[in-house]
Amino acid sequence: MRKIIDFHQHLAEPSYILTNVMVRYGIERSIVMPYELGSSKANQLLHEEMLNKRKSLTYMNTILKRLGDINEDVHDIVDGDSRFVYASWISPHCKKNYVPSSVKIVKIIPVLDHVEWSYFHKLYDLLSNTPQPIVMIHTGWGAMLDTDQVSSLIMLLNHFKDKTFVLAHMKEDTDEYNMNRKRLLGKFENVYCETSYGAGPHRIKQYVDLGFGDRLLFGSDFRFRYHEPTLKWFIHMIELADISESEKDAIFHGNATRLLDMHDLNYPRLKSGDS
Ligand SMILES: [Zn+2]
Repeated sequence: MRKIIDFHQHLAEPSYILTNVMVRYGIERSIVMPYELGSSKANQLLHEEMLNKRKSLTYMNTILKRLGDINEDVHDIVDGDSRFVYASWISPHCKKNYVPSSVKIVKIIPVLDHVEWSYFHKLYDLLSNTPQPIVMIHTGWGAMLDTDQVSSLIMLLNHFKDKTFVLAHMKEDTDEYNMNRKRLLGKFENVYCETSYGAGPHRIKQYVDLGFGDRLLFGSDFRFRYHEPTLKWFIHMIELADISESEKDAIFHGNATRLLDMHDLNYPRLKSGDS
């Protein structure tokens, strides 16, 4: 079985659903974040109830108001467990972001935040006050890869050359998204791309052919409403790509290992060469 580091997972109770699936698919380590309203059953019920009002301000505000506590809860569950590296959701609209120095990865969630005219200024302030070296940015579903937004994002990335940015998802609502993602990868060597919701094996090959293969990180987004069949497809998407075995290994774990090593996040170190 191939060894995998999954750069994008969410923890919701019961947590054995996540850990069982990790064992089944050879996922040895996960970058894990919360599940919108937190991990408890009560919160999930509230979550289901609010799904219908997904775009409503009440929904957004409920999450943003509680973001700090939600992160702390989920971090408490995985802290000290070497299978997990915690990524804290942060927002310029949250009064109490959860960014203890032990947490080295933060994730920005523009789909919940709403990207209005002042959003990038707020992000600039937020990241200036956030020392974490790795920043994931949600992309897709109308966020961050439109040409207008990408121009603002480029200005932002120019200010933070010392951080590593991971564009979450390879989702392509339009051709423009693919073009702009490639633009970001071409312009900044500190930009990586996580592969969940990618357009297919041909797209993976295209990115490898363009020389971005050492900055692709396998991610499943398990179990953010999409369950095991989705995870399986995301693995197949890379297995089926017309690229070499070593290029696949790089996407499944080599690139993530390198990135985590850079920030002392890869301990105990996963054994290599037995896949
Ligand atoms: Zn996600």
